Amino acid sequence: MFFKKFFILRNATLWLMCFLFFAFQSTLYAANKSLTILYTNDMHAHLFSRIESRVSSTRKVGGFANLATLVKSFKKESDTTIYLDAGDYFSGPYIGPLTRGRAVIESMNLLGLDATCIGNHEFDYGWENMLSQFERAEFPIFNGNIFFEGTDDLFWENPYAIIKKGNVNIGVIGLIGEFAFYNAVNSKMVKGLEARDEQRYLQKYIGELRPVTDLVVLIVHHGVPRRQLNEGMSNVERNLYSDLMLAKNVDGLDVIVSGHMHQGTSDALVSNGTVIVSTNAYTSELGKLDIQIDTTKGQITSYSNKLISIFDDEIKDDPAMVSEIGHWKKEVQGFADRRLAISKRKLVRAYDKESNMGNLFADALLQYDPSIDLALVNSGALRQNIDEGPVTKGDLVSTFPFPNKLVLVKLKGSRLRAIFDHAAKMTNGVLQVSKGTRYAFEAGKGVQEISINGRRLEDEKLYWVASSDFVVEGGDGYSEFGHAVERVDTGKKIVDVVEDFLVQERIYYPVYEERLVIK
Ligand code: FE
Repeated sequence: MFFKKFFILRNATLWLMCFLFFAFQSTLYAANKSLTILYTNDMHAHLFSRIESRVSSTRKVGGFANLATLVKSFKKESDTTIYLDAGDYFSGPYIGPLTRGRAVIESMNLLGLDATCIGNHEFDYGWENMLSQFERAEFPIFNGNIFFEGTDDLFWENPYAIIKKGNVNIGVIGLIGEFAFYNAVNSKMVKGLEARDEQRYLQKYIGELRPVTDLVVLIVHHGVPRRQLNEGMSNVERNLYSDLMLAKNVDGLDVIVSGHMHQGTSDALVSNGTVIVSTNAYTSELGKLDIQIDTTKGQITSYSNKLISIFDDEIKDDPAMVSEIGHWKKEVQGFADRRLAISKRKLVRAYDKESNMGNLFADALLQYDPSIDLALVNSGALRQNIDEGPVTKGDLVSTFPFPNKLVLVKLKGSRLRAIFDHAAKMTNGVLQVSKGTRYAFEAGKGVQEISINGRRLEDEKLYWVASSDFVVEGGDGYSEFGHAVERVDTGKKIVDVVEDFLVQERIYYPVYEERLVIK
């Protein structure tokens, strides 16, 4: 009898324990969710793999066919995987610019993207073109802080969405930095639009998403060049400073996938509980952030992040993507293969010093008209090197993938001095100058001496300066051009001016001439 009672009691206790154990387990299961975020940024029309010296001098990296394979294989492994991109997919190697972004968007349809945002370079061929290319997109594009000027009408009426992956509800918001919009976009291309404070809109959208999602992710294209500043920060912290500040100043944001600064990091940054990630651009890597979320607390409890180098010799091409980009290559090949000249040396671009590529572009603009005293080219406009040997139209368009036009302005010497001073401060890269012009400067500090055609710059004298409409409109922070006393819009594309110059030269000898002297 005693034993019977004991067994009944013991069974009841066991049942209760089992019940409590499973109840606890299921609570745990509901509270802890995992998610993998795959990410890219600044793909810049890199449909094909190529040598990128930063990664390897012998092994090709990147390309959409490799990227598509990687994304597909990770998505196959787990249904709680989302792939996000943080903008700047237009403007890069010639297939992108020659199709004004169409080839890029149609190829992106095969990448397995869950969402992307709008970067400054999506505006390179004008906002009307951007809208018509976006109509072909079969993936969501988000932006919530660009408006039609003077109205409360969003230019792109898709600020965010809730994306469900397995058992995880993810709020994804897209924004552009006000600074990137005004500093890095040709103002002609965004006429009638305005970008507003990203932080304010971010907080508003988080408020709308937080109560109905497991986590909130921001894809954002922003950042301020801070090369000249030290402040005890690492390069990564300095370049992703805008992300650190944005995360610090808002509440309830879990993850930032950041674009614009081309600053990758395997070690994710953390600010105010927000995990910040980014890649080094041009599809050379796929980012992979694995996170665990405690949904009862609404917090990320652990994460691990890595940048996976996309080596062409390690990954099989995605066949659908190969045929898509092959189609686009064929479409533009006849035009792109046209040979313009032979270069007797490799043409190399540089951001913070004189480059023989910069000298080529500046000299081509100088010879456009004999009245021009000097030509100035912003280093950031030159995007690719050209090997020694034949130079094709495709090479030229890949180097300068923008439809920017040649503008001549008459400026006082004192204004020119301020322009060179801005270049020397290195916030946006140095100015490349035409033959006969030299300037000496202390990097990050300011300009010291300037001479034009062997004579010191005179503050009161007027000079005819040739440059691109992007720079003359104040792009890259060159607002002093706004003080021009005269302006001639030639209507001629920079790329065409350089093409005419190369065709005329036939055999071109790239030069370094100490036009820029760094003290
Ligand atoms: Fe970019």
